[in-house]
Amino acid sequence: MADKLYDVIIIGSGPAGLSAAIYARRAELNTLIIEKGLSGGQIFQTASVENYPGGIKGESGADLSMRMDAQAKSFEPESVTANVTSVDFTGDVKKVITADKTYESKTIILATGSNPVKLGAPGEEEYAGRGVSYCATCDGPFFRGMDVYVVGGGDSAIEESLHLSKIARSVTIIHRRDALRAAKSIETKARNAGNINFLLDTVIEEIKGGDLLESIIVKNVKTGNITEIKANPEDGTMGLFVFVGMRPITEFLGDAIELDNGYIPTDEEMHTNVPGVFAAGDVRKKMLRQVVTAAADGAIAAVSAENYIEE
Ligand code: NAP
Repeated sequence: MADKLYDVIIIGSGPAGLSAAIYARRAELNTLIIEKGLSGGQIFQTASVENYPGGIKGESGADLSMRMDAQAKSFEPESVTANVTSVDFTGDVKKVITADKTYESKTIILATGSNPVKLGAPGEEEYAGRGVSYCATCDGPFFRGMDVYVVGGGDSAIEESLHLSKIARSVTIIHRRDALRAAKSIETKARNAGNINFLLDTVIEEIKGGDLLESIIVKNVKTGNITEIKANPEDGTMGLFVFVGMRPITEFLGDAIELDNGYIPTDEEMHTNVPGVFAAGDVRKKMLRQVVTAAADGAIAAVSAENYIEE
């Protein structure tokens, strides 16, 4: 038995969760935010956010998320740092279970977002943090003046390549097809950057080195040619940044809720298939995963939670 019954528990404190907290607290709902690590979510690792209305030119994702966090916390929701391990949504009172404690609430907003997808190439795990990275803002400075390689052809890969191009000697984008998925405007910037090269129709076969990453073996998918790309001997190492999409964080939900390829289907009011349980942000099955759509989802989810409690 938990010591308190909340009106709403928000799991996750990225833009969706923080926006939900603002709306929930303004509706005077008794609100708890449960967050695993740093507040801010995926956007925390983005070098610059230029497509959020009202954003400041050149502002980093970390700065934007800190401003969002401060704004949400000014409405005084309760918050705890904990890893949610499972849930029980079978009764009217929903249960959220962490290693230390079970929390209870009338409604739940799932805003857990997503994690970077791994390549699954041999050596990837071994060299993670020793040359292989999933965050250009965090690890880019380690490769100042060196050659770095970026895997992926989406917005993230190309935007992060632009960021890295200001730090690294050269950036080579390795993409498995001959056309990028990224928005044309971002691609044009990359093509004009001067020190960004493209290695298309190419996949990573193996990641190798000693203590640090020293070489990557790549294969041209059209010709079958295999090449070893080695670090500049004067540098001794190189960076390999992987941006090949995201995977929703929903494993902890088990079969408590309907999922589609790991994502949570909702209607336009953020209702899931379980009454009283709502989802918001990147964890939802949706067309466009952006800060602006996550924030909008969070607002709608909180209002839907308020309506559910009043019914
Ligand atoms: P994404 O759009 O899903 O792109 C993933 C890229 O990785 C694709 O080019 C894909 O290749 C490639 N890929 C996937 N699996 C791979 C594998 N196993 N090996 C090699 N390559 C692989 O993911 P994202 O770039 O992370 O973006 C996610 C969402 O956030 C998108 O909706 C994006 O628009 C949005 N976003 C927006 C901005 C912005 O507007 N400023 C910035 C960042 C992200 P294929 O193209 O061949 O499928």
